[in-house]
Amino acid sequence: MSAIARLRNLARNLYWTWHPELIGIFRDLDPVLWREAGHNPIEFLRRLDVAGVEDKTVALALDARISQAFHQMQEYLGQPDTWGARNAGALRTRPVAYFSAEFGLHESLPLYSGGLGVLAGDHLKSASDLGVPLVGVGLFYAEGYFRQRLDDEGWQQEDFLASQVEHLPLDRARDANGDLMHVRVRTRDAEIRAGIWFAQVGRNRLILLDTDVQGNAEENRRLTSQLYGGGPRTRIRQELVLGVGGMHALNALGIRPGVVHLNEGHSAFATLEMARQLMQREGRTFRDVRQKVAAMTVFTSHTPVAAGHDRFDSELVEETLGPLREQLGLTIDELLALGRTRGDDRSERFCMTVVGLRMSQYRNGVSARHGQVTRSMWRGLWPNLPQDMVPIGHITNGVHTASWLAVTLAPLYDRYLGADWRERIDDPRLWDAVERIDDAEFWEQHQILHAHLIEYVRRRLRRQGQPGDEASPPGPDPKALTLGFARRFAPYKRADLLLYDPPRLARILANAERPVQVIYAGKAHPENHEGKKLIQRIVQLMREEPFAGRMFFIEDHDMNVSRHLVQGTDVWLNTPRRPYEACGTSGQKALLNGCLNLSILDGWWAQAYDGRNGFAIGSTDEHADEEQQDSRDAGSLYEVLEREVIPLFYDRDARGVPHGWVARQKWAIRSLAWQFSARRMIMDYTRRCYLPAVGADVASPLSGALTE
Ligand SMILES: *Cc1c(COP(=O)(O)O)cnc(C)c1O
Repeated sequence: MSAIARLRNLARNLYWTWHPELIGIFRDLDPVLWREAGHNPIEFLRRLDVAGVEDKTVALALDARISQAFHQMQEYLGQPDTWGARNAGALRTRPVAYFSAEFGLHESLPLYSGGLGVLAGDHLKSASDLGVPLVGVGLFYAEGYFRQRLDDEGWQQEDFLASQVEHLPLDRARDANGDLMHVRVRTRDAEIRAGIWFAQVGRNRLILLDTDVQGNAEENRRLTSQLYGGGPRTRIRQELVLGVGGMHALNALGIRPGVVHLNEGHSAFATLEMARQLMQREGRTFRDVRQKVAAMTVFTSHTPVAAGHDRFDSELVEETLGPLREQLGLTIDELLALGRTRGDDRSERFCMTVVGLRMSQYRNGVSARHGQVTRSMWRGLWPNLPQDMVPIGHITNGVHTASWLAVTLAPLYDRYLGADWRERIDDPRLWDAVERIDDAEFWEQHQILHAHLIEYVRRRLRRQGQPGDEASPPGPDPKALTLGFARRFAPYKRADLLLYDPPRLARILANAERPVQVIYAGKAHPENHEGKKLIQRIVQLMREEPFAGRMFFIEDHDMNVSRHLVQGTDVWLNTPRRPYEACGTSGQKALLNGCLNLSILDGWWAQAYDGRNGFAIGSTDEHADEEQQDSRDAGSLYEVLEREVIPLFYDRDARGVPHGWVARQKWAIRSLAWQFSARRMIMDYTRRCYLPAVGADVASPLSGALTE
């Protein structure tokens, strides 16, 4: 097989997204084109001058690397002896179907808006690495999520760009005759057809439904064009296609899932379709099969924020779900009761999370703290149980190490942890060896990553036509202590907490001996005016003295921006209003790369922080009064910066190495990397949810508070 044919083959499996040696081959072949093609190898290979490629691979000695990468992927795909094969054999013929409204696998496949999607992507990648049979189910959004620009007033502008599907690693599902496969879902007034796409994610597949197909009314063709676009009617119909259409698609493809995992409430209608299929197969009533559906369903809730739980009016539910409701033999009231905390309370709107909670037996929040918060939020569903017996447990989120670890750090880990460390990420003892890394070497590696980040920020700022070019204030300072803050601009995340007292912040940033700078990135949801105001506030302040040249905003946050920031900043800042951060995963990406967390004790940090693996803002108490809480947290943030973070960072030996700082970096990696890895997370889901759901006997199935 020619080198180019091998590259084409490699480009069609998203396996490449977490194998830096492969990304390196594409980049080295033509760095400028690789960037212009948006890090998308399919587009890259289409635009590459094929005539010269074979010669070029030889001249650059890429031929050997391509050959090795190719064989390595074949070996990965054919590997019979995986953790999953040894521990989750029951899933081999009846895999997990993992439903999610978003999947963040790579910046070149824009099917995500933030942490929820990236987590789903990391879930797929890790399940593949472990050999856990799992198929992802989602929607194909041709226009994805919006691209962000800021206008002269610092106000967010949104552009939706249609991606060219032939440039994406997707294939259409076809039947035995080679005809395109479709599924159909019915609403009261229409039949909606959806085509099926496949993406290959290592050993597993992702199925994406797309309503932009012939035969659909214009309105329905556009139904799945944008992630979280449109009003409630669009939203509930998208969710019908995802949940019900998704189950149809599995059926049509001959996949009979043994477990259905609902990543958030958007896909909860899948449980109703599961019930319908069971009723049809077994000739029984909804009441009879309901328990059986629940016994194979896992439901994960991801947020305590009200806007994260879709609620719909009764008429809209009936308009959308009427035909399925009739097939289930349910009255309108019976169906609506499934989506209400108090089934007969007509004032309560139909909630997708409630459907998910009622129709599943394995229910969880995504950190210990969030487990408690979720039990308290939904205790109304179990009015006879004390709160600590509400049957909702927790499995803490983790990140896919290979996707987030800097390419340049991997060889260091190879040397100190042993070549097979990727197969032992979940083993706490593996990480003890981090302690042996020489401080000066570790610091040097960190400085290299930091320099890469500064260069990247300069490039982005030039492209934005803002500070960084000659006429404007200077770009970032390579020597200054650099804080990073990048995530969705949801108001509870308080992106402006650091700006609470501008004069005090000015003194911190503009200290000539110990300078500090901040790099921001993040999108506000198009409907979220508050979020856009937060961005504007930061951008406007950043133009004033002395903030200019010390605060920066990178537009159009995506996984690429995220990767640069979590790998190259010194401190990762997270300032949510307690207790709204369910978990938070960007800080987990940061710690892998030696970037220290400075965070409110909420979500994962409330269980991770031990006094020497990063820095904590405030305590764990909460205030009924938000203004009070903001003021206290801001005060604590400034104090921790002034008293702990800045002095430790600038305390150097004669060679410029900050030993106290490096000790924290190493301890953070050693104590946290295994725990907050997606590998550990998938093992937990497998042992505590997936295996019991397919009927295997396990020691500690997930149930609720008391067993934790
Ligand atoms: C990891 C990630 C997030 C998650 O951010 P948190 O606020 O820490 O949960 C959001 N957006 C992108 C692009 C990410 O990669």
